[in-house]
Amino acid sequence: MVSPEGESVPAFETSTVKCRGCTGENVVPVVDVGAQPSADYFPPADTPGPDPRWPLELWLCRDCTLVQLGPVEPQLPEEALAVESATSIAHAESSVKEILRDYPALAGGVVFEFASHHGGSWLEHLYAAGSRLAGDGEKADLVIDVHGIVHEPQYGEMLQLRAERLAPGGLLVMEFHHLLPLFVGNQFDTIRHGHWAYVSLRALQNVAALHGLAVESVKQVDMFGGSLMVMLRHTGDAKPDATVDVLLEDEDAAGIADEVQLASLQEAAWHAAGALHDELTRHKAAGRTVLGYGAPSKAPVLLDLSKVTTDLLPFTVDMAPGKHGRRIPGGCMVPIRPIDELRAARPDVVLVLTWDIADEVIAQLEADGGWGATYLVPLPEPHEVVGSR
Ligand SMILES: [Zn+2]
Repeated sequence: MVSPEGESVPAFETSTVKCRGCTGENVVPVVDVGAQPSADYFPPADTPGPDPRWPLELWLCRDCTLVQLGPVEPQLPEEALAVESATSIAHAESSVKEILRDYPALAGGVVFEFASHHGGSWLEHLYAAGSRLAGDGEKADLVIDVHGIVHEPQYGEMLQLRAERLAPGGLLVMEFHHLLPLFVGNQFDTIRHGHWAYVSLRALQNVAALHGLAVESVKQVDMFGGSLMVMLRHTGDAKPDATVDVLLEDEDAAGIADEVQLASLQEAAWHAAGALHDELTRHKAAGRTVLGYGAPSKAPVLLDLSKVTTDLLPFTVDMAPGKHGRRIPGGCMVPIRPIDELRAARPDVVLVLTWDIADEVIAQLEADGGWGATYLVPLPEPHEVVGSR
């Protein structure tokens, strides 16, 4: 679409929107979390704002059931400042062990990985087990995509690339944040620009079938608040096991392919956000100090919907040195500092913005006995977790 001035402008008409999975035109908006900044844009702390924002909406394809971002394509920064969590590093190693235990014939074979900029690479562990990286254009016995494909605007086309890389009889392993815990766990803050698809097993199965792939087995894993590890093969090679039907039934029971059910996430999100604002206000009124832990890409949406600013959360801390001296994007203006500043400040309450690794965070802060803080976990509704004292 082109404006009268000759500039390209986004196409908003529903009739022109094509599904990112199946390319059908039967896609409808279901959840609107408002105009939001880029989740990976951490400006220097003294940048006054306002930061650029773009509409952030989930749409549902009524044909393939893929939940996806709406038609807006924001201009996003490329800079990756995050450091990988200990949870993520350990998970990559244990995943490789499990796969080689479950599929021993893959040990020492040819592997290809579609990498994610969140880390979590399996390659070094596979090399240690004797695997070899596929050459240019070479097909692989094991093709891996760990949290990679959702960064691609066109899910279906990218699944085709993975199918093309897969040798006959080979195994495609895909790990991704699962739509089911996002929905039932009210994880609305994981909706973000640049993550184009919010995938159920049902949707993956439907889009995979268009590219000659079938789901053979599926496992639920704890990463990022609830992920799926899905094993696929070329359609003729796949022998689906019982895990597939069990998970599809769970998804159907939760109604995550139903646009009315999905739309209820919006109300749940606003409710939890309001409750977080009330909770922080209550602490402030009682004279208790609250500081944050983590500056994840989830934080901008959570703090924006919760209308949290520096009067309720003076600063947060993060492991990534690249984020220090910067701030959370959006209206909250919350600065990001080194972890030591949280320890020095000894707040009464720590708001755990990286709630998906809350156990790791609490263990880290309590390793030397802590200072008796309580930990406020914002979702599915704000709740307090007491440290080890
Ligand atoms: Zn579709």
